[in-house]
Amino acid sequence: MEITIIAETSGEGLHPVTEQLVGAASSLGGAITVLCPGGVGSNDASVISGVTKVISLQGDCFSSFDSGSWSTVMAPFSQGMIMASSSPSGRELGAQIASKIGAPIVQDITGIEPGYKVTRSVYSGKAVETSSLTTPCVVTLRQNAFEGASGGGSAEIVVVDNSSEVSVAVKEAIAKAGERMDVSDAEIVISGGRGMGDPSNFSHLNEVADVIGAAVGASRAAVDSWDEIPHSMQVGQTGKTVNPTLYIAVGISGAIQHLAGMRSSKYIVAINKDPDAPIFGVADYGIVATWEDALPALKEELGNLS
Ligand SMILES: Cc1cc2nc3c(=O)[nH]c(=O)nc-3n(C[C@H](O)[C@H](O)[C@H](O)COP(=O)(O)OP(=O)(O)OC[C@H]3O[C@@H](n4cnc5c(N)ncnc54)[C@H](O)[C@@H]3O)c2cc1C
Repeated sequence: MEITIIAETSGEGLHPVTEQLVGAASSLGGAITVLCPGGVGSNDASVISGVTKVISLQGDCFSSFDSGSWSTVMAPFSQGMIMASSSPSGRELGAQIASKIGAPIVQDITGIEPGYKVTRSVYSGKAVETSSLTTPCVVTLRQNAFEGASGGGSAEIVVVDNSSEVSVAVKEAIAKAGERMDVSDAEIVISGGRGMGDPSNFSHLNEVADVIGAAVGASRAAVDSWDEIPHSMQVGQTGKTVNPTLYIAVGISGAIQHLAGMRSSKYIVAINKDPDAPIFGVADYGIVATWEDALPALKEELGNLS
């Protein structure tokens, strides 16, 4: 049985909950590997009793928390039952790793037994849910619900340097994110949906956005379909609510959950090739056309205005 623990870090060292993760893992038996993001606390993790191996993950992407890039690096090392703290960052990271390795996740567990049986409280603590898992699986553990392991261990430390693989991509992503305005703050938002066909086609939205100083948003279908479109761009019920002067929806059908996040915009323009798309029901101006035809024309016209 293999258990992988995602160390919870705090400043320069380990958060005490990491000892609790090891304590819970030890009660199951088997080999325990601790992943230390950014190498933080690797030495401290190696002396926790019960730890078999510490993987000290180094790389530029660990300079600030980003669950997307961290999980990309961590997923290949995540074997068996993967345990993280139920802190906000632990929950996010756990979910990202689960999605990357195609494993189920149970958040905020308060009990664990051999056979991958985990319990957690539900309905505001009125009931206890028990799940039987098979590996690979991810669980996040509620802080202070488990006894911490003691010191006295001497696990080997393996250093893995990921700088060359991900730092460039991550730096680019951060640079791009820094350049673009957030949809929540913008006076003009242009959003793309699944109708854009491919994430690379969002460059056409960026070009229009550059002309008019707009932020670029997306529908959930676009965010869910393409890793390149981050959740921070999502507009709608489970994304951001925007209230700009002008909202331009491109290749977005206009599902009720998308409308929930943008229908209070002052003016709505929709570009969709389907004349029956529900988005036209809320649009002030509708363009029935493909984005391939409409966006270059729009860009040119808007360019003439500025
Ligand atoms: C609980 C829950 C929460 C949700 N939260 C959100 C949310 O926050 N935000 C959100 O957006 N959705 C949310 N959804 C999903 C929502 O129901 C829709 O599935 C989603 O909005 C559809 O995205 P879309 O319009 O991009 O894709 P689609 O419905 O696939 O529509 C694509 C559109 O593009 C058009 N098109 C195709 N090709 C072209 C082209 N070349 N040029 C022009 N037009 C073209 C098509 O005619 C079509 O209308 C949620 C769903 C659930 C169940």
